[in-house]
Amino acid sequence: MAMVNREPEEVVQLRARLLEWYERNQRDLPWRRSRDPYAIWVSEVMLQQTRVAVVIERYKEFLERFPTLGSLALAPEQVVLGLWSGLGYYRRARMLQKAAKFVASHAQGNLPASAAELRELPGIGAYTAAAIASIAHGERVAVVDGNVERVACRLQGWDAAGRTGGAAIRHKVEGLANELLDPGRPGDFNQALMELGATLCAPRNPQCLMCPLAALCRTRGEHKTPTRPRMLSKEVARALAVRTGRLPGLNNREVLLEQRPETQTVMPGMWELPGLRESRVPEQDLCMTLRHAIMQVNYYVRIRTVAEEDVEALTVTAGERRWVSLNLATGMALTGLTRKVLDRAHLLPKAPVEITPPLPDENDA
Ligand code: SF4
Repeated sequence: MAMVNREPEEVVQLRARLLEWYERNQRDLPWRRSRDPYAIWVSEVMLQQTRVAVVIERYKEFLERFPTLGSLALAPEQVVLGLWSGLGYYRRARMLQKAAKFVASHAQGNLPASAAELRELPGIGAYTAAAIASIAHGERVAVVDGNVERVACRLQGWDAAGRTGGAAIRHKVEGLANELLDPGRPGDFNQALMELGATLCAPRNPQCLMCPLAALCRTRGEHKTPTRPRMLSKEVARALAVRTGRLPGLNNREVLLEQRPETQTVMPGMWELPGLRESRVPEQDLCMTLRHAIMQVNYYVRIRTVAEEDVEALTVTAGERRWVSLNLATGMALTGLTRKVLDRAHLLPKAPVEITPPLPDENDA
């Protein structure tokens, strides 16, 4: 084992210790109760770049609405994006549906079983393919994500923070992970290594005293982890315009939303609050301020309440606008910031409302 550079007994020991620890300590997560490749696929896509706590609720709702690959393939894109709202990185939802459509039309709705075939599908990369194939079908293929990379580098004493990082390190880690992989339980082993990285072997302050692999680890917490890139800051100001709607009922209010043009590279087609002409907001009109992080940018956001008659004078039009019933807005493809603002303003109904791209006959602004 040139890559691992460990005695075979050590490898056997490492597998056994890790799997035993995983059996005792794994978190009870909804996707771990299923071996359905489609459900595993959805969870793995959601978990990329989104925290587990956020994914748990969205995952359940998503699978309730789209219990099968076929139902996802047939859904309007705006409905899919609506259920993705809050998870961020909406391109993942589009690619997920694109692949579902492809499988529905080319493979009778059956996801391929092997990692190699899964990688042929649009939007499925090495990580997702390996996760589905190993967990759902027991294929002996290692999963490598950021957690696995960190654990592997610490175990081996490889410098992940130096100049040799990036693709070279990733390649070494893939080789190592495949050599360490337990051939009898590849799915569990993959999940165990990721779980160790997500819990004990965290980026900062690894809990080496509790780690099942401490005796086999070559660094035990004295390892450099690449520092995070610095966040940029931006200020933005948005209009919250709410009016009484035309439909009778208790919650018949409408909010003014604007759709981001399809030509936008970030969140095309999503609905958001219109932008203000002036970033300075008079104190008496300031509804709320909040911070919202997207990728490497912290947005410091000021929200101004705007009366219907002032909308034209105070806002800049950047896309198609509609007054949308708040009951319908909750199921729409809202940007994360817009959902956060409407939530904090207690404008969205608590119970989920069945779908909803805005209806064609709703008033334009
Ligand atoms: S001993 Fe510490 S650094 Fe090594 S794998 Fe365990 S938690 Fe990570």
